[in-house]
Amino acid sequence: MNCYVHTPFCNGRCGYCAFYSDGAPSEAKVQNWLVRICRQLDELPRNSCSTIYLGGGTPTLPDIPVLTELFRHVLPLAKSGCEISMEANPETLTEGKVGFLRERITRISLGVQSFDGGLRKVLGRNCSDAALENALNWIGQAGFPHWNLDLIYGIPGQSLEAWQAELRRAASLGCDHLSCYNLTQEEGARLAEKMVPDEEDSVAMWKMTGEELARAGIPRYEISNYARPGGECLHNVSVWRGGKLWGIGPSAAGFDGRVRRTEVASLARWLEGVPPEADELSIPERCNEIFAVNLRTAFGWTPELWAQVPGAEPWAERLERTRAVAAQFPPDFLNVREERIFAGENGLLFWNDVAEAML
Ligand code: SF4
Repeated sequence: MNCYVHTPFCNGRCGYCAFYSDGAPSEAKVQNWLVRICRQLDELPRNSCSTIYLGGGTPTLPDIPVLTELFRHVLPLAKSGCEISMEANPETLTEGKVGFLRERITRISLGVQSFDGGLRKVLGRNCSDAALENALNWIGQAGFPHWNLDLIYGIPGQSLEAWQAELRRAASLGCDHLSCYNLTQEEGARLAEKMVPDEEDSVAMWKMTGEELARAGIPRYEISNYARPGGECLHNVSVWRGGKLWGIGPSAAGFDGRVRRTEVASLARWLEGVPPEADELSIPERCNEIFAVNLRTAFGWTPELWAQVPGAEPWAERLERTRAVAAQFPPDFLNVREERIFAGENGLLFWNDVAEAML
């Protein structure tokens, strides 16, 4: 089992962001959220989770007493060896908070977005150079078993050379995971009309990312994710493969093996107890969706992995259907072999087209 816990607060609103966040919180809002989150966590069986992911919003925004209470209810869910990941924003960290987290989580994911203060400004990202450098030093020295940096490319004004320099700096810091996202124009983002990446540049940067990071020993394992061997995010890998998931907190999504349930994206309504929205698909539709999502990974599917998806049809049928889809694309898009199905580099790059043909 996996568990996702959502913290719906942020100091401000980044210009590119369309995630749900209630903004800068009052103390009362944080307390109300905490009480309900803890109550829901207490209803879940102890020692049941192989992965727990604390995301947001900004999960590192609450102060240490609030986080202490949160972890008092989160940690009993963890099985031995559980991956416990937490997203962190540099400007909300202190040396003390990093030390506190090091004692409770196994993986920290820092939202850098860009090492260049000018480009962070273009993104509408409120983070000073000093806050970023401090956070990198504290995390580097704390000795987390795993740590990730989030970066964005395709930012207006960012050259290919500048992106290469960002990648080289990130790879030199000692993290074992990098998430590199292409800037996209998200509906509802505060600066959406300014967030218009050049498509050709974006493709060149994506290709460069794969080459640069492979040379640094951090190969691509999913369209936007790169890891040293053993550094892959187990939570995400499990969810991509159709793993069951509890989604706790406003806007969080859960999955019981068949139905996806998404909590309302409003703190006030979630506190009122509005029930989650169920996304009912037939078993074949759900299996198709899971199959397409995990084709975003470089590894793809083997018969053994596919057999673990509830309701999955026999591998031979899946091979036949995928061969029919692959025939619509150039030969290097989808590799369909008896022992494994996986997308080639172009298949990853044009995954949306492949998924559309599949669904
Ligand atoms: S990008 Fe992250 S920190 Fe920025 S507004 Fe969105 S959720 Fe908050």
